[in-house]
Amino acid sequence: MSELLADHTTLRLGGPAERLLIHTDPAAWPDLTHAVLHEAIAPFVLGGGSNTIADDTGYPGPVIRMATRGITARQLDGGVVEVTSQAGEPLSALVAFAITEGLSGIEYLAGIPGTVGAAPIQNTGAYGQQISDTLARLTVYDWSRRQLAVFYPEACGFGYRTSLFKAYPGRWTILEVVLRLTRSAYAAPVTYQHLAHHLGVPLHARVPLVEAARGVMIDRCQRGLSLSESGPDARQVGSVFLNPPITATQADEVCKAGGMVYRDDYRVLRTSAGWLLQLAGHDAGSQLAPGVSCSTRRALTLTAHDGATSAAFNAVLQTLARDVFTMTGIRLHPEPARPVAVLIAERDMP
Ligand SMILES: Cc1cc2nc3c(=O)[nH]c(=O)nc-3n(C[C@H](O)[C@H](O)[C@H](O)COP(=O)(O)OP(=O)(O)OC[C@H]3O[C@@H](n4cnc5c(N)ncnc54)[C@H](O)[C@@H]3O)c2cc1C
Repeated sequence: MSELLADHTTLRLGGPAERLLIHTDPAAWPDLTHAVLHEAIAPFVLGGGSNTIADDTGYPGPVIRMATRGITARQLDGGVVEVTSQAGEPLSALVAFAITEGLSGIEYLAGIPGTVGAAPIQNTGAYGQQISDTLARLTVYDWSRRQLAVFYPEACGFGYRTSLFKAYPGRWTILEVVLRLTRSAYAAPVTYQHLAHHLGVPLHARVPLVEAARGVMIDRCQRGLSLSESGPDARQVGSVFLNPPITATQADEVCKAGGMVYRDDYRVLRTSAGWLLQLAGHDAGSQLAPGVSCSTRRALTLTAHDGATSAAFNAVLQTLARDVFTMTGIRLHPEPARPVAVLIAERDMP
């Protein structure tokens, strides 16, 4: 019996994987690659499945679930510590490790589901921190060259929720992530007003690491940004659209309409995708299709319920993007990944 991807994704949608391989032992990677290299369809690599919308038809090739564990630390000069994590470690475990060890640099990533290996794919981030800020290097397997390679941040093409790896899905599998964290009992300055409010401190204050992470968890919980085991919002992939880039003229219009405009860490003007959805008439709790609704807390998170299908979920994404474009001329782009089957021969790309 083939495994359902629904059992490996937080949306709990997705048909069967042709073959599911759980990768737990880093030393066994060469055997695993040999086991799939003769297949016609390139493998789809899955972490925690918290940013993946798997098709109802499943995946017609092998699926590799990254489940390798292990975190080590090495002291460098000047209060810098190099932390090495296997790709299958939950990101939350790495954040907890850093906080326990008194290391600053990823404390605001507390509460983000998924694995360490997936974080560089979309340059996962929150509250002003993103994984690229502290990344020292990555060890990857290059499926085109069929060999291991090391990537340094300059070569990763990082941007706002994107990277080279996201641009060429399936070409590289991240096996190991090395971060450079700073020995400090205090978190980076708080740059989000609502977080400062929960922490009871002014903007730009520095609070102890553990308090910063606790404040983040409370804020995420209250704003519907945390993943629960049960309840109406349990089946979700977080934000379904990226905050879109806008022109200066669109920025003026957004401001006039009461929306928020900001520059991301790469100086690109953006506005809030959630605000655009609300402007187009889609609010928290809106029922959008059988089995698909906006979460009870926010329009930008869609939740699946009994009877949901990936087809319906994806159709809703298209409808929402179309509604926003019709009303504002601004294009929304989905944030989660959709496993697309690529022939092994076709993957020999860039
Ligand atoms: C409640 C909730 C809150 C969230 N909040 C945030 C947030 O604040 N900020 C944010 O950026 N994201 C957020 N997300 C999205 C998601 O959790 C992150 O993007 C996370 O990093 C995805 O990890 P994953 O292991 O679940 O990825 P998956 O869903 O398993 O995979 C996502 C993509 O990465 C690829 N991939 C996975 N592992 C590897 C690997 N080792 N090598 C190569 N490719 C790989 C997959 O093929 C797929 O294309 C949230 C999601 C939820 C459900």
